[in-house]
Amino acid sequence: MGEVTIQNVRISADHYINGERVASARTFADISPIDQSPLGHIAAGGAEEIEAAVAAARQAFPEWAALGPEGRGVYLRHLADIIESRVEDLAIVETTDNGSLLEASRLRVMKRGAHNIRYFAEFAETLKGAEWDSQPANAHNRVVYQPAGVAALITPWNAPFMLSTWKVGPALAAGNTVVLKPPEWAPLTCSLLADFTAEAGLPPGVFNVIQGIGEAAGAALVAHPGVDRVSFTGSVETAKKIGAAAAQNLTPVSFELGGKSPLIVFADADLDLALRNMLEQYDNAGQVCLAGTRLLIEESVAGELLERMMAEASQLRLGDPRDPQTQVGPLIHPQHLQRVDGFVRRALQEGARLVYGGRVSPALGGLYYEPTLFVDPPSGSEILQKEVFGPVLTWQTFRDEAEAIALANSTEYGLAATLFTCDETRAQRVAEAVGAGLVWVNCFYVRDLAQPFGGAKKSGIGREGGMWSFDFYCEIKNITHRSNTFG
Ligand code: NAD
Repeated sequence: MGEVTIQNVRISADHYINGERVASARTFADISPIDQSPLGHIAAGGAEEIEAAVAAARQAFPEWAALGPEGRGVYLRHLADIIESRVEDLAIVETTDNGSLLEASRLRVMKRGAHNIRYFAEFAETLKGAEWDSQPANAHNRVVYQPAGVAALITPWNAPFMLSTWKVGPALAAGNTVVLKPPEWAPLTCSLLADFTAEAGLPPGVFNVIQGIGEAAGAALVAHPGVDRVSFTGSVETAKKIGAAAAQNLTPVSFELGGKSPLIVFADADLDLALRNMLEQYDNAGQVCLAGTRLLIEESVAGELLERMMAEASQLRLGDPRDPQTQVGPLIHPQHLQRVDGFVRRALQEGARLVYGGRVSPALGGLYYEPTLFVDPPSGSEILQKEVFGPVLTWQTFRDEAEAIALANSTEYGLAATLFTCDETRAQRVAEAVGAGLVWVNCFYVRDLAQPFGGAKKSGIGREGGMWSFDFYCEIKNITHRSNTFG
């Protein structure tokens, strides 16, 4: 049985199937992005482990579903309490595993994990379908939400615990059982989640974790005919493969994918507020799906704002994510660094003007990439079209609202859009005109679990959050009843 220890926290490196730890003959290496030191070897699952996990989940399903929302709520509230009591452990493990800032993990991200579980458990208890009479048919309609079955959940490395609990919460609360495939570049906090579900007393088979490489464990999971829902957060390229596999069984999918989101600043905006939010786009070293990576600035204030942006960005503290002073941590993996740097090199070749960054920090080396800004890349160039998922922003100017909207809508993505203006009417007009699933006006990343979350265009299929999560994780049944009572 494999194990990884991080600051006295012991984490199983094995799968979790039917309430038990299970090893695999094959393993993969997990490294820390902080210093690329090896953390351990993690079980690499494949078709065999997926088969066992789906079978366990299928077997556990009827009893878990029969508990009803209140019965399941007892277990899930206990699980949320356990997560809350382990926030410090979760934070150090996730930071060591994926390089995200420790302070943010401790103070916000891990607590969100507990909230994800509690919120959806409570929501399920209030979930009511509609009821109405059909006239003149003299019939009564009743809509009921019923659990779908086995939910396959696949998550990425940039916020694995938060993003996994966001799916696990509604999937379990709705009465499904779960097989979770964590990201191979940051697999550890999802393994802790399995321990917490055991401690919370969830019956064996209700929650299973299969570790492994996407193309092996993930691919086997989404192609399995015993899976009733596939919920995936990750890249567009992977979503296309998952969609094709799931289509063979007509398994419904929910996709939360990448973005190339605009951040628009109108001349009448509070420029101090806009600038603070522009700098925030380097958070998590730019490895944030929602990041407003295309800065679109009204021409009349662009000169002043660019100067201020250059001055402030040079002050951002790049370094060890465990240090509370650090503002920008490392990229996740050497392969990812190569990918990010490849975008930067090609942007230079295409004629984009680099105003700062564009390289690994000479002082820190390793996976620490400097915050980077390209001004006026040629229209249609790759750096304006493709998601980099690193600390790389672009800067374009516009003359009027129509041009701002056209630039905002000029990619195949449509995850989010952020705009700054003090003109309320314009804010509403532009918010409605941009092709995005989420729009923030005079703020960024203000999230509430009741909101529908998801992307337009190539940034996703479906919405998660509030009622929308249950629309996906449930079968929605309409019962039409005609009896003497109604007629
Ligand atoms: P990825 O698509 O490479 O991997 C995501 C997950 O899919 C991993 O667990 C991986 O093992 C698995 N996977 C890979 N190939 C698979 C296959 N063939 N079948 C099944 N599973 C497979 O993405 P990533 O690099 O881990 O994450 C970065 C991407 O995620 C970015 O595009 C980012 O924008 C996106 N993201 C989106 C959101 C959102 O809510 N919209 C949130 C975070 C990240």
